[in-house]
Amino acid sequence: MSPAVWFDLAYLVGSVCIVWGLKRMSSPETAGPGNTLAAIGMGLAILAAVFYPLGEDDNGNLIWIFGGLLLGSGVGYVLAKKVAMTAMPQMVSLLNGMGGATAMILGLVEYLRIGSNSGSFASNLTVVFALLVGSVSFGGSLLAYLKLEGKVDDKKITLPFHSAFNLVLLALVLFGTWALSFSTNWGTGLLFLFTAISLFYGLSFVAPIGGADMPVVISLLNSFTGISAATAGFVYGNLMMIVGGILVGASGTILTLMMCKAMNRSLMNVIVGGFGNAVPGVAADSNQQVKSVGLTDAAIQLAYSKTVLVVPGYGLAVAQAQKVCKELDELLEANGVDVRYGIHPVAGRMPGHMNVLLAEADVPYPKLLDLEEANDFLNQCDAVVVIGANDVVNPAAERDPSSSIYGMPVLKVWQAKNTIVMKRSMGKGYAGIENPLFFEKNTYMLFGDAKQTLQGLVSEVKGLG
Ligand code: NDP
Repeated sequence: MSPAVWFDLAYLVGSVCIVWGLKRMSSPETAGPGNTLAAIGMGLAILAAVFYPLGEDDNGNLIWIFGGLLLGSGVGYVLAKKVAMTAMPQMVSLLNGMGGATAMILGLVEYLRIGSNSGSFASNLTVVFALLVGSVSFGGSLLAYLKLEGKVDDKKITLPFHSAFNLVLLALVLFGTWALSFSTNWGTGLLFLFTAISLFYGLSFVAPIGGADMPVVISLLNSFTGISAATAGFVYGNLMMIVGGILVGASGTILTLMMCKAMNRSLMNVIVGGFGNAVPGVAADSNQQVKSVGLTDAAIQLAYSKTVLVVPGYGLAVAQAQKVCKELDELLEANGVDVRYGIHPVAGRMPGHMNVLLAEADVPYPKLLDLEEANDFLNQCDAVVVIGANDVVNPAAERDPSSSIYGMPVLKVWQAKNTIVMKRSMGKGYAGIENPLFFEKNTYMLFGDAKQTLQGLVSEVKGLG
């Protein structure tokens, strides 16, 4: 067998490891080993890619390549170790942006290398397309990162006719793509101008999208990066980049569509709708009263219920209260209470956030109900405990057509006999809108940090026994 075949085999094994690893990530029990398997596959593919140009003089490039690998792996390792679970979406956006930047640089270098040796329109188009999508993805991901970090305010960067402005930019970059693919003799100046406009289009594309739509845009940008990596794979004839890019592109697209479905919106509506920006929701009626409940009363209510639904949200992640939540669950179960968890697809700050948190605390997976199952369960539920969730339990999504989240499916916790809401204040959630749930006649607010409140409840329930 020729040595080149061994390298193709390494790509094949790497691809299988990644596909298999992804498959294993679909369940919390196998997600950890699945992640390791995918990382091994990627490591194998990187090594094969580095050593593939067999027998050729490396021109001293290996030192740069391994220097880059070491530096990149080191920075990635430290970031992954340090990042708080709640800051994961920012990190995903940033890393995604790096993928886009890589495709952008590959496109630039390759275009300049082709120079006057212009190939066919189709082969030039592959290079320019990788450059375009990589730049859009890089620009967009950076802005998404800044928005998620709270460093940029959506409203301050949105123009009055932003969608029309974006359409003009889109037409411009599509024209540029055609012109640059038609001939590769345009010179560096025009190439950089095209790159700058594409980067700006990425920024402008993400600018008006905000509020509760951010999960969709992160996932969409992720699929863009996959597509740009796959296109760059075609440029270099690298099978692994094509396979990896297509996997990321396809899974990102599927996730984007699933999220749109979860929010009952079309993708077009998310992109041009400016959802989550403008409408603050109906302010609370001044006659409406908020009822708060103490730890002892809340503990009695829970311990004497037959069925309890726990609705975790972003606040559970902030408080890192998942383990003490499980402790309360076990105590209630020991008292004969049937405890389940209602998981909203966009609860928290990243897809699957609540599943990961609860898996960390070893909450058995069968106890987790998806949106529809949880809403069915709520009809016969004695008590609901909302822990640090807000937007995903907002009845305005069903009742208030003027609300920016109107139409988004939510957990209908107000249908249970009683609802206890744990949060620190009357503060709003990510979408920045009022929540009429807090004023419902069967809602009781249990104010405080979720972890401390849950610890208090655990002591109270123990005291009842
Ligand atoms: P929300 O952001 O709507 O609400 C979280 C609530 O948690 C806040 O109102 C806050 O109230 C409370 N809270 C914060 N810290 C604590 C604490 N230490 N203890 C107790 N409570 C706390 O969260 P949801 O999970 O309901 O909804 C997720 C939102 O995020 C949706 O709008 C979604 O679209 C968006 N999003 C989701 C992403 C995803 O992929 N899942 C990604 C990006 C955005 P208070 O300050 O009063 O305590």
